[in-house]
Amino acid sequence: MTLVSRSQWGARAYRLPNGATLYSGTRRRGVKLHYLGTAYTDRPHDKCDDYVRQIQAQHMDGNGWSDIGYSFVVCTHGSVYEGRGLRRRNSANGNTTLNDQDYAVLLMVGSSGLTKPTETQLDGARDAIDYCRKEGPAGTWLGGHRDGYATSCPGDPIYVWVKAGAPRPTAVQEDPMAGMTKQDIYDAVWKTDQVAAPDTAPDRKTNVNWQPQSYIKDIGNRVRAMDARLTAQSAAIAKLAQLVGSDVDTAQVVAAVEKAIADAVVKVSVDVTTENQES
Ligand SMILES: [Zn+2]
Ligand SMILES: [Zn+2]
Repeated sequence: MTLVSRSQWGARAYRLPNGATLYSGTRRRGVKLHYLGTAYTDRPHDKCDDYVRQIQAQHMDGNGWSDIGYSFVVCTHGSVYEGRGLRRRNSANGNTTLNDQDYAVLLMVGSSGLTKPTETQLDGARDAIDYCRKEGPAGTWLGGHRDGYATSCPGDPIYVWVKAGAPRPTAVQEDPMAGMTKQDIYDAVWKTDQVAAPDTAPDRKTNVNWQPQSYIKDIGNRVRAMDARLTAQSAAIAKLAQLVGSDVDTAQVVAAVEKAIADAVVKVSVDVTTENQES
């Protein structure tokens, strides 16, 4: 977690006595998420602390609060800015009871402009939730400002995410086969199939441990053989049709059919043998 302390982001000192009000017990129910509820445009990270100071000024000078209202603020780059922190009661959840009940974590996302949190930001929000649980401690409850208070905050994208348990965004999966040698892949396949694997990849049909690609080649050969047999049978039937009605004896007809089929089978056998020497 990238935690930015109050001194690091240049926080003003909070006012006494209210700014020093602590939570009533050692444990909070959980964490509520918030958004800005105004237009927001994403900005370079070196401008994010300016924005956090601006929120604090608005809360202290505009709202007349004793400090920034939120427990923590998460920028789109995943940094977690310390607001009222783990022990001082926040003032962002709507009333004293709600403020005392749950931590308040703001994601710097607007109701227009940038309206969806970035993946890095969700990662940072998850960091903040875990931090509140581990160091706060916060209970496992998760929700948004709108839970128990009439507001659209924290907006649908964040609300849906937090109610789904605030899952960490999955990192972009790299190609699992990148960098694997043919032998690595072969080993992995045989391990998966739980078949005793020989030390090296076999390459002949006669070997009981075929390479996976041998199966594909074999299926292809079977299909071609089936096709060849059907072609032979069609030829034989056509020949038979020619002969029916003429003065040819039955033995000659049977011999013609058998020869056509036999020729096709011999041709297929040669194909299969040739193919498998390359597999
Ligand atoms: Zn809110
Ligand atoms: Zn930032």
